Amino acid sequence: MKIFGIIDLSTLDYPKRCSSVVFMSGCNMRCGYCHNYLQMKRNTYNIPPCQVYKRIDLTFSEAIVVSGGEPTLQPQALTEFCRIVKREENLPIKLDTNGSNVDTVKRLIEEDLIDYLAVDVKCAFDKYWDIAQYHGSKIEANVKKLIKICKRENVFIECRTTYIPEKMDKRDIYTIVKTVKGCNLYALQQFDSEHSWKEEYRKMREPTLEELVELGRLAREYIPNVAVRSKEGIVYL
Ligand code: SF4
Repeated sequence: MKIFGIIDLSTLDYPKRCSSVVFMSGCNMRCGYCHNYLQMKRNTYNIPPCQVYKRIDLTFSEAIVVSGGEPTLQPQALTEFCRIVKREENLPIKLDTNGSNVDTVKRLIEEDLIDYLAVDVKCAFDKYWDIAQYHGSKIEANVKKLIKICKRENVFIECRTTYIPEKMDKRDIYTIVKTVKGCNLYALQQFDSEHSWKEEYRKMREPTLEELVELGRLAREYIPNVAVRSKEGIVYL
């Protein structure tokens, strides 16, 4: 299992629970604002899933988050790790994904290994190549499938967008929320220029909390539960 980090205790990564977070290496997108892109290239360790499990201090954890990178690029290791967590601890598991691999997520959900799915919807789908260097039409179809699967299997699904004012506007948010309107929660996240790996993004303006709240109100026309995550904390609208 290729990983580039473990956080023993986080209060931010699993809503309303203290969690431990494992960051799996590798990604099939190249988002200019990614915080982890360089770190996962430089500091990746290959450790069997059972050893990863043993290295996490779960003393205060009420959940596990598997993040990345894109965890579904290592389907066997991801599945084995989730099986170990469920067998040994029976803790809720949240999976963070960029939505590029429906089949792996579907198999995990059908095996009752995932309790919370968080899917990045980076931007309006015609802008995907510019922002993530990936095919937006594929993600549009995948996100719809993932929402259907989660509804059917009773798994909580969050869709979330990191809002970059110089790349997006409210029309993008409308496009996204019309597509993801069946999700349980839609979250708008504040773009963080300082930790972006591409220089172009480090020069871009970050949105204010007020801007995000205004966009969040637009999103609420389609989705009942909307949250705004900024450096100042989380606001549920
Ligand atoms: S999908 Fe996530 S991990 Fe991959 S490049 Fe984009 S922000 Fe980084």
